Amino acid sequence: MDQLNNYADSRLIRGCIYCGGPAETRDHVPSKCLLEAPYPTNLPVVGCCSTCNQGFSIDEEYFACLIESARCGSTDPTKIIRPSVARKMEKSSALRKRIEDSRTIADGISGFVPEMERVQNVMFKLARGHAAFELSLICGDTPDHFWCGTLSSLPPENHDIFNSVHFQEVLGEVGSRNQQRLMVIQMPIHSQNGEMHNVGMLINDWVDVQDNNYRYIAIDDMGVVIIRIVIAEFFACEVVWGILEDETQS
Ligand SMILES: [Zn+2]
Repeated sequence: MDQLNNYADSRLIRGCIYCGGPAETRDHVPSKCLLEAPYPTNLPVVGCCSTCNQGFSIDEEYFACLIESARCGSTDPTKIIRPSVARKMEKSSALRKRIEDSRTIADGISGFVPEMERVQNVMFKLARGHAAFELSLICGDTPDHFWCGTLSSLPPENHDIFNSVHFQEVLGEVGSRNQQRLMVIQMPIHSQNGEMHNVGMLINDWVDVQDNNYRYIAIDDMGVVIIRIVIAEFFACEVVWGILEDETQS
């Protein structure tokens, strides 16, 4: 990944970005359990206390195994695509059994009932991490909007909105990594009298952490913070702080 330095006010992001305690360690966002070795260089890291760091790891492990089981339709390690998850399922029979026990069949389609509290815990943590790293924002409050599900469960029109780049209206935190990533493009626009004008637009694009395994987009615009995450091109989530005028889901 590109190594971007944070030039935003350093007072904005201090200590553990999850609880405000001391930053005793560094936390990868996303966690390595959502990626495969060899890991991308310059993975995003945020300050984190030891308690938060350890507190998340069990849920993250469960989440990685659940998503992969759902994607592959099985908890059988020989049918799991991601090598690190297959090894984890091989080693941890208790975790494998826990996920297998949540199997359900609805309308002839097999799936797994997620432990939503744990899934939400991981999603909020990832979203807070991306907001801190990319936008130089601490999002400590409970999000105002949360949606997660499979990418394929989004209706086609929402699928396109979810996956598209964001046209930035207002610049976020000066010097943040996100602001350094914004691209300016010139777009020809027809005015009412038929003349063509070139209008500069700021494009906020998705960040590909690892091909086919993890991508995200972090948006800070018009008083709303939106984090969208896609895992294994299978599972998607959206976490929002502030009120969306035109929600793409729900
Ligand atoms: Zn903490």
